[in-house]
Amino acid sequence: PVRVRFPPSPTGSPHVGLVRSLLFNWAFARHHGGQLVLRVEDTDVARNTQESYDGLFDLFGWLGLDWDEGPDVGGPHAPYRQSERGEIYRDALARLAEGGHTYRCYCTTDEVAARRQASGSKDMGYDRFCRELSDEQVAAFEAEGRAPVVRFKMPDGEIAFDDLVRGRVSFHSDHVPDPALARANGDPLYTLVNPVDDALMEITHVLRGEDLLSSTPRQVPLFEALQQVGIGTGPPIYGHLPYVMGQGNKKLSKRDPEAHALAYRDQGYLPEGLLNYLALLGWAIAPDRDVFTMAEMVEAFDIADVNPNPARFDLKKADAINAAHMRLLSTEEITHRALPFLKAAGVVSDPVSDADAQLLELAMPLVAERINKLTEAVDMLGFLFVDEADFTRDPADVEKLLDADDGAGRDVVRAAHDALAGLETWSTDAIQTALQTALVEERGLKPRVAFGPVRVAVTGRRVSPPLFESLELLGRERGLARLAGALA
Ligand code: GLU
Repeated sequence: PVRVRFPPSPTGSPHVGLVRSLLFNWAFARHHGGQLVLRVEDTDVARNTQESYDGLFDLFGWLGLDWDEGPDVGGPHAPYRQSERGEIYRDALARLAEGGHTYRCYCTTDEVAARRQASGSKDMGYDRFCRELSDEQVAAFEAEGRAPVVRFKMPDGEIAFDDLVRGRVSFHSDHVPDPALARANGDPLYTLVNPVDDALMEITHVLRGEDLLSSTPRQVPLFEALQQVGIGTGPPIYGHLPYVMGQGNKKLSKRDPEAHALAYRDQGYLPEGLLNYLALLGWAIAPDRDVFTMAEMVEAFDIADVNPNPARFDLKKADAINAAHMRLLSTEEITHRALPFLKAAGVVSDPVSDADAQLLELAMPLVAERINKLTEAVDMLGFLFVDEADFTRDPADVEKLLDADDGAGRDVVRAAHDALAGLETWSTDAIQTALQTALVEERGLKPRVAFGPVRVAVTGRRVSPPLFESLELLGRERGLARLAGALA
């Protein structure tokens, strides 16, 4: 059975590249009816934070992707936090040492650098100096009080594997120095714990970012050594997902604001919109199709179709994909999803009062088709819910549409006010007819010139829900007050 894993480290704020890795592992597992393991790689005590750990789970909860084993749901290979697996790593280290796969290294970084310089070698990394120490040399180092790190003996020769994305990949061991597996104080390192866990958790496929490709040639022989000492069944099958490039064709980095995954939630993206967009970073469901559901992705996903070339991050495209998913939702669903944003912004009361709920039910149909992110509901609807005393207009729009041309816009608003003041029924149709007659027919104004200033007067903004409906929802008293207020 297919078993994949997603091993985030709880450091910093989660990156979109991380979400892409999760998504591809999830889609792969679900497509094959396999299992996804969530493992938290939290051995780097200096960089881990609780905030970052919580952020990961907030993010996953929002995305709605599920896993089969993990710290929250448990499973046969618990614990799933590396910080709780120290015993397991010490045992693995002992077995590797016993099998002759490791050695103690007493060198300091300076010594290694000095030797490299003296020999004129351009090779990077450790030079295997401590592989063949005599007993006397070991005794001397120990007497000096040096604490050794544990290094893995890389086998000599070619290390090759068939990558599901990149095809055959090979390295020569000359370019892969013996990695340290544990610190001098005995703490196991990422180089050890990541493959040990993959072996023990019976991971069959490792799908991860290309930035980890360089760690694969040292992991393949380590998996083989682990198998020899009774841990696991040898290397998994690898697939390295392409780099994601940001501005200026540089790798998307933590410094790029669009790299932060939780920001999309806060900006009112739909999780399915973000996931759909991230799926396109290296994969396509069909040559001429960008928008699909996660169920459709699971159905179609084949890791062999992932393109090894770098993928370009394009915020405009992400927005467009999200907008397409907004169009797939019913007005009720958009209301439901926008509600937390409306509450947080104070547009509606929390809990929602009956009056707010009623107005929302009438107002949302006016904007549901026009908003591309949930937060836009806040911008579009605020004017309807705000107390008259707190109502404000966008100063730039006021300047453009009311103040400009010696206040030509205000003349239009005055005419609108007069036309509506005597209206018998305050309905969308009646409002439309009255304004059309007074402004377009009698004054001969183009509709844009006529209704722009009225819109700013009533809603405070140039972009708003449809004007006549908005006036109806505001009611006669507030509607007329807004028009009069724009003249003051
Ligand atoms: N914890 C590692 C990281 O976040 C995972 C590496 C891997 O997928 O093997 O970079």
